Amino acid sequence: MGGEGILPRMRHGSPARAWIEVNLEQLACNLEELRRRHPGLKMMPVVKANAYGHGLEAVARVWDSCGASFFGVANPGEARRLQQAGVHTRPFILGPAFPEEREEIVANGWSSIVSTFEEARHFSELAGLYGKTASLHLCVDTGMGRAGFLPAEWENMGKTLSRLPHLRIEGIVSHFPAADEDEEFTRAQIAEFERAVDCVREYFPLEYIHIAASAGLLGYAAPSCTMARPGLALYGFPPIDTDLNLKPALRLISRVTLIRELPAGHGVSYGRAFITNRPVRVATIGIGYADGWLRSLSCKNVMLSIGGVPCPMLGRVTMDQIMADVSNAPEAREGDEVELIGPRAPIGQIAEKAGTIVWEILTGLGPRLPRVYLEG
Ligand SMILES: *Cc1c(COP(=O)(O)O)cnc(C)c1O
Repeated sequence: MGGEGILPRMRHGSPARAWIEVNLEQLACNLEELRRRHPGLKMMPVVKANAYGHGLEAVARVWDSCGASFFGVANPGEARRLQQAGVHTRPFILGPAFPEEREEIVANGWSSIVSTFEEARHFSELAGLYGKTASLHLCVDTGMGRAGFLPAEWENMGKTLSRLPHLRIEGIVSHFPAADEDEEFTRAQIAEFERAVDCVREYFPLEYIHIAASAGLLGYAAPSCTMARPGLALYGFPPIDTDLNLKPALRLISRVTLIRELPAGHGVSYGRAFITNRPVRVATIGIGYADGWLRSLSCKNVMLSIGGVPCPMLGRVTMDQIMADVSNAPEAREGDEVELIGPRAPIGQIAEKAGTIVWEILTGLGPRLPRVYLEG
């Protein structure tokens, strides 16, 4: 058990107490699988939030070499990191940009959504100053309520924007608020999106027409779309049932730091929310809520896998340490690896027990965890 050669070491040489293992090959396979199922559809892998916790640079390099149309990022800082990593795929900023961010976007030839005439005018002006053309995707709000031109503006949108001299509207974008929850609404939303596309088609070439994130891509056909923006599904966690062969690439691993036998009637962790009712063999493990192992998982009978044996976590999660009952794992030793997320500890169950969603678990995995990459 444990310690089989890939233990990440911190700079001073001692092994890390907890880390994330990412299989880069699997990430490439997941993109290929989506492509196989959707031939001809362009892809914008979404790599915001440190590539859903997997590590931005390493993940982007993999999908960069697979070929992608854009990388979806949350802000110019993430776009800059991609550029500094030598990634060729253009960053696409998924949300509104502040006025002071637009110059960098234009100067670097990045792309972004545009939601208002005022934004569009400013982008065009900046592009003129740089002797460039700002390439933007027209965002239309079909129900998300987060960004985009509202339906009342759709009639004029094309005409007004087409007059801006340094702007190239290369795409049109919208977003589903309920693709995994409300089929009727989502179908109506697709029809609305088609209407928006029709309103502006005569004005712009619209190479990129896109509305679907993971759930939309797996669950719906959107006939006029030429691109999709999968995040979660690409990381191998499809948010809705699918027969596609998408597999997780990430495992969250920690190590046992101490094993002791606690007598009956002994409290475990803060608040003494768990009290042993018999002698219990208790392992202390080197991960906590500071790493993103949520405190809301406390006392929820979360199962951790130690040497392949499921062991219940006991009591509350502390900042850097947790405890587990290893009475059923007599082989367990100090130094052993503990799988907290992985094939034997499915993330869906963890998210459910924490009262949250898989996206939040992944993106909450903290910077203290080294990312260890397996290749080939
Ligand atoms: C985050 C995001 C995505 C990716 O969503 P998933 O559900 O992870 O596939 C796609 N589009 C936009 C606009 C987003 O903000």
